Amino acid sequence: KNIIDTKKLEAVLKQAHSTAESDQSGANASYIPALAKVPSNLFGLTAVTADGTVLETGDSSYPFAIESISKVFSMALVMEAVGAQEMLKKVGADPTGLPFNSVMALELHRGKPLSPLVNAGAMATVSLLPAANADEKWQKILDGYSQFAGHSLEVMDAVYTSEAATNSHNKGIAWLMSSYGTLYDDPDTTCDIYTKQCSIAITCKDLAVMGSTLANGGVNPITGKAIINPEFLPHIFAEMTMEGLYGASGDFAYTVGLPGKSGVGGGLLAVVPGQLALSAFSPRLDPIGNSVRGQKAMRFISDALDLSLYR
Ligand code: GLU
Repeated sequence: KNIIDTKKLEAVLKQAHSTAESDQSGANASYIPALAKVPSNLFGLTAVTADGTVLETGDSSYPFAIESISKVFSMALVMEAVGAQEMLKKVGADPTGLPFNSVMALELHRGKPLSPLVNAGAMATVSLLPAANADEKWQKILDGYSQFAGHSLEVMDAVYTSEAATNSHNKGIAWLMSSYGTLYDDPDTTCDIYTKQCSIAITCKDLAVMGSTLANGGVNPITGKAIINPEFLPHIFAEMTMEGLYGASGDFAYTVGLPGKSGVGGGLLAVVPGQLALSAFSPRLDPIGNSVRGQKAMRFISDALDLSLYR
């Protein structure tokens, strides 16, 4: 496929925004108190092409918590450090068919999380990142994400504090994995770093730039810096397709046809490898935990521009 016509892309982005905007169904995530307080009606869309053209509409510069979309970038950083085979062996690459924080999924596979894009697998992924201590590990993650975004990112303290005070379920998952021998660092430290990575503030524009780095062979098209070895990209895209929207990943592949990743902060990323990244931010989620308007907008854009990889 050829690089997209940016004039057309800009028009389609605006149409997608006005089409999806009227949908007020769904609700903010409420199990993390700080996320429940985000204004529900915010809605931004951004596209960043592999050659660095940025197109934005709506609330594309409002900072929100990256949440689960962080899992994609930790997966990338850890593969870079330990290799793709190690990730496959220790974490896995299959959909769990269960909610993102399922304990049952772990029990069913003797502690193997199956996917780096569910909570258990994301914590296993963090545990695999080599570092001398917790501070160094955290710095590697924050620096890595900042490289993807092209500027220094920061933690949203209110989200981190709120999530750290209410994440006993995730701590339980970390300890369960530890008991199975499938977590490779201290469970409390690992869960804390995972919670912090989920609390990193990004805008819709940041998210599209981060995604465009994946679309552009691992090179950030804005800064021109190579962030990740392109040999890892097919593994990341495959995993996003299999588990990026949890129990709706199949739906997303069927209707949008692109590797995607959602977060309970309301963010949604989709990547057209070699061409562009699309991002959405709208906090109201469906019962599975995916942004309602984000999914609608991605369907609209994919249809209008014929972006499905399966055509
Ligand atoms: N920090 C959230 C959690 O661990 C991320 C979940 C998500 O975005 O799907 O519950």
